[in-house]
Amino acid sequence: MLMLVDPTRVARRLRVRGVVQGVGFRPFVYRFATHLGLAGWVRNDGGGVEIEIHGSEPVLDAFTQCLATEAPPLARVDVIEPEVIPPDLSCKGFVILPSVEGAVVTAIGPDVAVCPSCLAELFDPDDRRWRYPFINCTHCGPRYTITRTLPYDRARTSMAGFKQCPGCEAEYGHPGDRRFHAEPNACPACGPHLGLFEPHGVRALARDPVAETVRRLKLGEIVAIKGLGGFHLACDASQPDSVARLRARKRRPHKPLALMCANLPSVARWAQLSAAEAASLESPERPIVLLGKQAHFDAVLPGVAPGLDEVGMMLPCTPLQYLLFHEAAGRPAGIAWLADAQPLTLVMTSANPHGEPLVQGNDEAFERLGEIADVLLMHDRDIVVRCDDSVLRVRPDLPTGPGVSSGGGIQFMRRARGFTPLSLPLTDVGPTVLAFGAHFKASVCIVRGREAFLSQHVGGLDNPAACAALDEAAEHLQTILAVRPEALAHDAHPDYYSTRAALALAERLEIPAIPVQHHHAHIAAVCAEQGIDEPVLGLAADGVGLGSDGMPWGGELLHVHGAVFRRLGHLSPLPLPGGDRAAREPWRMACGVLHALGRREEAIERFAARPNVEQVLGMLLRGARCPPTTSLGRWFDAAAGLLGICEDMSFEGQAAMQLEVLARRFGACLPLPGGFYIDTRAQSGLSVLNLYPLLAQLADEDDAARGAAHFHATLVEALAQWIGDAAHAEGIRRVVLAGGCLHNALLAAGLRYRLLARGLHVCEAQHAPPGDGGLALGQAWVARAALRQGSVGGRD
Ligand SMILES: [Zn+2]
Ligand SMILES: [Zn+2]
Ligand SMILES: [Zn+2]
Repeated sequence: MLMLVDPTRVARRLRVRGVVQGVGFRPFVYRFATHLGLAGWVRNDGGGVEIEIHGSEPVLDAFTQCLATEAPPLARVDVIEPEVIPPDLSCKGFVILPSVEGAVVTAIGPDVAVCPSCLAELFDPDDRRWRYPFINCTHCGPRYTITRTLPYDRARTSMAGFKQCPGCEAEYGHPGDRRFHAEPNACPACGPHLGLFEPHGVRALARDPVAETVRRLKLGEIVAIKGLGGFHLACDASQPDSVARLRARKRRPHKPLALMCANLPSVARWAQLSAAEAASLESPERPIVLLGKQAHFDAVLPGVAPGLDEVGMMLPCTPLQYLLFHEAAGRPAGIAWLADAQPLTLVMTSANPHGEPLVQGNDEAFERLGEIADVLLMHDRDIVVRCDDSVLRVRPDLPTGPGVSSGGGIQFMRRARGFTPLSLPLTDVGPTVLAFGAHFKASVCIVRGREAFLSQHVGGLDNPAACAALDEAAEHLQTILAVRPEALAHDAHPDYYSTRAALALAERLEIPAIPVQHHHAHIAAVCAEQGIDEPVLGLAADGVGLGSDGMPWGGELLHVHGAVFRRLGHLSPLPLPGGDRAAREPWRMACGVLHALGRREEAIERFAARPNVEQVLGMLLRGARCPPTTSLGRWFDAAAGLLGICEDMSFEGQAAMQLEVLARRFGACLPLPGGFYIDTRAQSGLSVLNLYPLLAQLADEDDAARGAAHFHATLVEALAQWIGDAAHAEGIRRVVLAGGCLHNALLAAGLRYRLLARGLHVCEAQHAPPGDGGLALGQAWVARAALRQGSVGGRD
């Protein structure tokens, strides 16, 4: 009690911002303050967490300093704002006060994997939650996908219908407990339960749904498993017949499937694993990590990722997924089994019929998955928000960032579960803008204050269900952030659903809708995530996006400064015989190239098996239905078509991926001499990179792998020179690489290396995907810059 009369006693009020609600931050503050003998209180408020502390100055300093470093695993402290207040000598002890009335949660955490403490309980036969598939605590479990509205508390989640039993309630109410205010807290007595169902909706005859599921998987059956943000379709990866059946039923002949293994030793049997990749796999976000296959992979698991040298793998995330491996291991007690390689390897693919959004509800599952799955493992907790698995790659050449401590940075292919709705920090404040993305790999983004919130990946907007999913994602993001946008941003393409949705909402809210050119947005997305405010030279290496001249662009060199961009150059145009169909049929692109090279006869000979080859060449001759595109993606397709690597694609990017694999297999090679030229005297005044000489040489190549390697090497050389020349001419040293083609690691790493060698600063997308999945971030950033500058969109 010396403290009460201590004249050196001082007091402070601390405001803590970041991800500090629903992550066990208040109990941590309580324990920490109590431990240091500080008096005061902690509570949630609209800005995050508010703390008042009374004590001696050095102790207060130590407390403040350790708030960020000692915070619980899921917390993220962005800012601590201290304020000196008069000490109150009557203040004794430390308490957790009720939340401020009407307080708005600043950030709901993402769903994260079950933590080690919960796993230990899950496999402890004496624990009351032994084998309970919904075990969680403040350090783990679902958040984002079970939350309907703010603030984040049980009544507003899909746990609302499950009243806690006295045992759970006691944990929930005790500040010293790991489950203090763990909103989804549950046990077998009071929480959700599993059920195994036949496809027609009848409950399967099984005493133990987990045991029966594993039995069915081993029989080769396909199981739909309800997860956090959606369903997976699972089968035993070691049974090629099951994998083939899954592909046939899902109408997915070639697109790679992801695998799930119990632990790292099990993953290592199938894939090469660096320390950084291992860390990423084991991170609480549990993403799918793209890994290099082991040499024997395709011999043992032939149907999983055919024709590719990488495979997407993940570790279990939910207690239910762990229970499947636990069952297959013979239900061992304790956690020792988790250190040993386990024989079960599961295919785990998102359960959405071809091109449709993820399945969300139980009734919907019977309707939409009944034809695909042999049996459905479900439960009675609702999925409020769909959220797909995240997919990323560790690139040793990228700067290290969050998620990986060493050995390279991560780059997202798809940003969703585990990361949504975590914000990306921005360098500046500005109006709140909601951006709608484009058409492929759609997602929405809200910029608010100094933060950008990119929604989960929604996918292509090819059907009404997918469009509805985009609306839902936009709606939900506004709800959980409690914002009303001041402006909207959308792609410049008038026919995209995302554009129409933005315009309709703008009219309803009576706020401006700002169109942002597609490739401008690609470059801007990187500027946004990396806090670049200066002018940059941007290479948009992409599939397709509408250019400001009304043409389909996709291989663009842009000068970008905030809301303004200027086109400096583009790739020489390729004809798209038959329009959009040419983007799915690389042989058409090859015909276009052969036609342009004056080698029509050769085209007829090569593609003689195609009944419509004459028709396609006729279109090219007449110039009818052959819009020109500057897309780099189509140059990849044309090369793959010419080399006979891929003539028809069953999924987006297939030709380019196969080309990349062959090039990597062939190994390093030199660029082809005379493979390209840069035309700076084009009528338009733009710099045009012409790759026709390269393709002319590839057309004569009889070794596809050597051709693929030459294509990559020459392309990298050509782009590096093109960019280097422009950088010199413009007096810019910072180069941004963006667009869907940057998913190609060979291209991205090669280009990066060459540009660094020229003394340029190179920035790539890391926290948002480089392709269209990150586009909304760029749109929002540009729109905000436009509002700030009073100039909306366009060229300077
Ligand atoms: Zn836990
Ligand atoms: Zn309970
Ligand atoms: Zn794009």
